[in-house]
Order: sequence, then C-alpha cells, then structure tokens
Amino acid sequence: MNNTRGLLVVVSGPSGVGKGTIMRPFMERNQNVKYSVSATTRAPREGEIDGVNYHFVTKEQFENLIENDEMLEYARYSGNYYGTPRFAVEKNLAAGLDVVLEIEVKGAQQVRRRCPEAISVFIMPPSFQELSNRLHGRNTESEEKIMERLDIARSEMQLAYDYDFILVNDDVDEAVRQLEVILEAAKAMPKYM
Ligand code: 5GP
Repeated sequence: MNNTRGLLVVVSGPSGVGKGTIMRPFMERNQNVKYSVSATTRAPREGEIDGVNYHFVTKEQFENLIENDEMLEYARYSGNYYGTPRFAVEKNLAAGLDVVLEIEVKGAQQVRRRCPEAISVFIMPPSFQELSNRLHGRNTESEEKIMERLDIARSEMQLAYDYDFILVNDDVDEAVRQLEVILEAAKAMPKYM
C-alpha cells in the first residue's frame, strides 16, 4: 500500500448510540482528520447547516449522484437516502489525510467490501434500554420514527462482529480517547506503515 495515503476510518452503529456526540469532540481534538460530509434527502433538523452537517439534496439530485457513480456508498435509511460523496474522500486520502465516515451499517458493509484497507469501528450502546433512552431524550423524531429506528438498531447490532473494533459508548470522553487509540493502533499495523 502507498504509505502517503491517509487512513479511511468507518464509524458505524445504531442511530442514537452517540456517533455524532463522539465525533464532535474527536474532530475538535484531531484537526488533521477530515470528516466526510454525507449527502442526504432527509430534511434538516433545527440547527443543522447545509454543507456542514450534511449536503441536503433532493431525491432527484441524490439519484443523479448515484447514476454518475459519485457515491462511495449509499443506503436508504428510514425512508431517506444517505451517502458518502466519493470525490472529497478520495482527494483527502490522496493528500495523506485520514478521513472518517460516520455512516449506518449497510453503507459500512459496502465500504468494507470496496475498500478492504479501511478500518471499521462499531459503536455499541451500553444496553438496548439506554439506546431507547437516548433516542427519546434527543427529541428529534416522532415516537413512530423512534420505534422504527430501534427496530433497525436491533438488526444492526447483530453485525457488530463484522467490524475491526467494537467500542462501547458508556462515557463520551472515554469513547473519544478509545477512538484515538484505535487510529494510532491501526497506523502501527504493518499493512498501513
Ligand atoms: P440521521 O438522520 O440521524 O442524521 O442519520 C440516520 C443514520 O444515517 C445514522 O445511522 C447515520 O450514521 C447514517 N448516515 C449518515 N450519513 C450517512 C452516509 O453517508 N451513508 C450511510 N450509509 N449512512 C449515513
């Protein structure tokens, strides 16, 4: 492998597990790592900024991106499309920068297949009850959507052992530190040196 390329890191896990809560301080502390901004057809939540949290696009725009092979991976999740634009990821990796994708499990599966050199991390909740508490606590979805997300989470969690690392998000600071250790450990592995 070309040792000037950055490391591709896939962070996945059920909705509500705290992927975003871990990634925010992680990105602040690791400014040399690039966060891949996904495209989605879901409507922005209050406070979300286009181009920062997501590229908010229409279904037609998203389907054009798929058609033109501009998506590294994509999935339908809870009635919407979500996907990783390929260009920015490729550009950063080629420049030697590490790139983190924060995506759901079907997309993570595609990335693992297409990019076997990627490091994959599955974030687990301390318990299913805690996941339900977190989804209810953030107050962003209707009860029906929360139930749907919990149903999806149940099957997503069956796939945790397909990942290189499993990280239990009990305490955010600890989870951020563990993610940093995982990246350091990955870089010390012979195939990335
Ligand atoms: P949310 O609507 O809560 O922002 O995201 C719903 C789910 O989609 C989360 O599990 C999130 O990680 C995932 N997601 C966000 N961006 C992408 C992406 O680019 N690709 C895939 N496959 N999933 C994504």
